[in-house]
Amino acid sequence: MATVKMRQCISCKAERDGREMLRIVKTPDNEIRFDATGRASGRGAYLCKNQTCVKNAFQRKAFERALHMKVSGQEAEQLRTVLFEEMNIIEE
Ligand SMILES: [Zn+2]
Repeated sequence: MATVKMRQCISCKAERDGREMLRIVKTPDNEIRFDATGRASGRGAYLCKNQTCVKNAFQRKAFERALHMKVSGQEAEQLRTVLFEEMNIIEE
């Protein structure tokens, strides 16, 4: 039986099954990206799969705090595009 690993959302702080969340990883090269496999090496940050949590994470710079790294405007923009596509979020 697989153990459920509970992960905390960096936006709303709710704890959920990590497999049902979006994983963002800080790679060993100090880059930030969406981890579609959920198994990439590096420090991970987790988000609920809902628009509010994804949007709030960018507004509050939650990734920088959770991953202990500086995220440039360009990197944040790239990640935002990828996550919004993944979540089918339409930018207003
Ligand atoms: Zn959340």
